Amino acid sequence: MIKVGLNGYGTIGKRIAHGVSLQDDMTVTGIVKTRPDYIAKIASRSFNIYVPDQSKVAEFEDSGIKVKGTLENLMDDSDVIMDATPEKIGAQNKEIYSDKKVRAIFQGGEKETIAQASFNAYSNFEESTDKDYVRVVSCNTTGLARTLYPLKDAFNLKKVNATLIRRATDPFDSKKGPINAIEPSLKFPSHHAPDLQTVIKGIEVETVAIKVPTTLMHVHVVQAELGKSTDAESVFDVLSRYNRIMPVSGKDGIVTTSQVMEMSRELGRNRSDLYEIALWKESVTVSGSKVNYIQAIHQESDVIPENIDAIRSMFNLMEKEKSIEKTDQSLGIGKKVF
Ligand code: NAD
Repeated sequence: MIKVGLNGYGTIGKRIAHGVSLQDDMTVTGIVKTRPDYIAKIASRSFNIYVPDQSKVAEFEDSGIKVKGTLENLMDDSDVIMDATPEKIGAQNKEIYSDKKVRAIFQGGEKETIAQASFNAYSNFEESTDKDYVRVVSCNTTGLARTLYPLKDAFNLKKVNATLIRRATDPFDSKKGPINAIEPSLKFPSHHAPDLQTVIKGIEVETVAIKVPTTLMHVHVVQAELGKSTDAESVFDVLSRYNRIMPVSGKDGIVTTSQVMEMSRELGRNRSDLYEIALWKESVTVSGSKVNYIQAIHQESDVIPENIDAIRSMFNLMEKEKSIEKTDQSLGIGKKVF
């Protein structure tokens, strides 16, 4: 049993903790919370609560939350720390982890250089094996890698041009915007192109990102050039063989991200999460070797299966296909709706 500690229990951290708790080859030792808020109170029903340092203990215990220890103790109690703190905090924490000689997995808000390998389960599972520090790439990069890896494998993908229409912030977060504006990244390529190349090597990538006032999902408009000519049916057939891609269709009434997420609620998943990338079937079009498609990313949850697989890769617990299948079964991924 791999002992997994969580540092950071926000959008991503709480979902990793839940995902890990469903596995039979790993266990959650505890989570670090900085404040004794409602999230900490609810989390304390399921997980041991740790705090960053001794100065926080009294505040938590005064709020009625039993504290198991500090981050220092959590590192002693764990084989790996999943760092899901806000971007750039992970880089500060890396020093603490390396001083303590504890292994760690970081998230996509951190730079590539924080870790010895960046991770996506389909495209480079083996590169994280036996590493001490791994980074699971961001929700957008994970979404791109999920659908582009199959195209690389089957059709010798050469070049990608993607427009990323990004959600402004997560549903719980009432502080950030924009609330009535569209914010382009102003950079060609946006940071997503080099990030994708950390997990899929040998392809040309151009991306641009545009933030819009929504909290539900990101949408990607992808144009790809393959190494050979094909047709839409063959491309769709390849993409739909991968369980972490969920084909959806306007014919079934799914025409916006609202309906994608409503489908997810109907599926009854934990927190209504959609771990799969939603791929609009009718958007998959091909002209010679040029492919177009449109996909939607549930940014709060698509990286959760990857975090579980990253632990198995790091600790060399099992090979790629077995890990992916085990993770998928535990999270209910692969039950295609349409
Ligand atoms: P979040 O703000 O929702 O959660 C971060 C949590 O860490 C909060 O609970 C915060 O209180 C806590 N925290 C802050 N400082 C801390 C510290 N020093 N020690 C312990 N806990 C601390 O952030 P998030 O959206 O979950 O993002 C976490 C990471 O995951 C970032 O690298 C982000 O880029 C990445 N990521 C986010 C998303 C997304 O859409 N939200 C998707 C994929 C990856």
